[in-house]
Amino acid sequence: MSGLESRLKLAGRMSGLGTETAFEVVNRVQALEREGRSIVHLHIGAPDFRTPEHIVEAGRKALADGWHRYTPAKGLPQLREAVAEYCLKTHRAKVHPDHVLIVPGGKPTLFYAALMLCDAGSEALYPNPGFPIYESAIRLAGATPVPIELHEEKGFAFSADEVLSKINARTRLLILNSPANPTGGVTPRKELDKLAAGLERHPHVAILSDEIYSRLTYDGEQHVSFLSYESLRDRTILLDGWSKTYAMTGWRMGFGVWPEQLIAQAERLQINSVSCVNAASQIAGIEALRGPQDAVERMRQAFDERRKLIVKELNDIPGFRCTTPKGAFYAFPNVQASGIPARELEAKLLQRAGVSCLAGTSFGALGEGYLRFSYANSAENIREGMRRVRECLQPA
Ligand code: PLP
Repeated sequence: MSGLESRLKLAGRMSGLGTETAFEVVNRVQALEREGRSIVHLHIGAPDFRTPEHIVEAGRKALADGWHRYTPAKGLPQLREAVAEYCLKTHRAKVHPDHVLIVPGGKPTLFYAALMLCDAGSEALYPNPGFPIYESAIRLAGATPVPIELHEEKGFAFSADEVLSKINARTRLLILNSPANPTGGVTPRKELDKLAAGLERHPHVAILSDEIYSRLTYDGEQHVSFLSYESLRDRTILLDGWSKTYAMTGWRMGFGVWPEQLIAQAERLQINSVSCVNAASQIAGIEALRGPQDAVERMRQAFDERRKLIVKELNDIPGFRCTTPKGAFYAFPNVQASGIPARELEAKLLQRAGVSCLAGTSFGALGEGYLRFSYANSAENIREGMRRVRECLQPA
């Protein structure tokens, strides 16, 4: 350690900060590729498609037209209006444009909610296995993260009874995610209805509903937005965005729909942190929402085909068992019968087979015994990846 480093003292809050392992695996994958290794990428949660051309063109034109300055912190009014229209169409919820906050990606809505609502002595409920940044944001805010267990036997759906049984006087925030990362689980309407009814008895709990995969459902599954529960609207925050639906992960475009009581606080957090989202991205975001939607459906159908392929292939691997996910673009096979702990298996498949995936434990302790494969890759690469995994795990 250098002299300077040894004099620096990190704030206590840093010790609770987790990470998103996907970004770390990216570095490992790139290092192997620099050595000349061939790696099949099944680790990252980003569509492999290009952003549809009409959206790229709108962004390009925006830069040429001089969209180079700050925008209002909440986002361009015309974009917030487009979001309100979109919510009515896709989430069946009437939203006032003044309650929309445009943010750089999906994550800031989560961070603003945690910072605003959670502090020491309070609790926040989050899904486990679940998107790892939930737990991290709760800890950073100083609150105690309380896991909601998701089970394979229930298709990794939320159980209303389990959620409600964990609420107490200290609970400030409940995080929901359907369709879900990393499991692809979709919580059925009946269960959400029951949960919403039960939450009416707990008016001190705010709900953050992460619906970033809302446009990626399969087998006729209809997305149910938590915003559609009118009795909870005064405490429901919607997290959604452009990343997954429009293949726009690098544009950093997301939106939150906030209750009237919280929107000014959310705007203040935005002003204190990022000021606003880049102006040209916002113009492209309007085109994405209001322009042709056929590319969204084409991408969804492609994911659907790959979903069926990867589930079939995974179930052909000795020691693996994979339930069919109903949403997002992840398969979450149970690998307990392989006898290898998830983290070890992740490393082995990367090193020996040249296939990148993520250990279930990257998504919480309850992910032990599982791996996450992203099927945001071509059918050809998925087949090759599965062939390599099968060969690597073949008994000697
Ligand atoms: N929520 C979930 C469940 C996700 O899986 C992700 C990204 O993987 C996000 C939020 C964050 O999205 P973004 O990349 O737009 O910040």
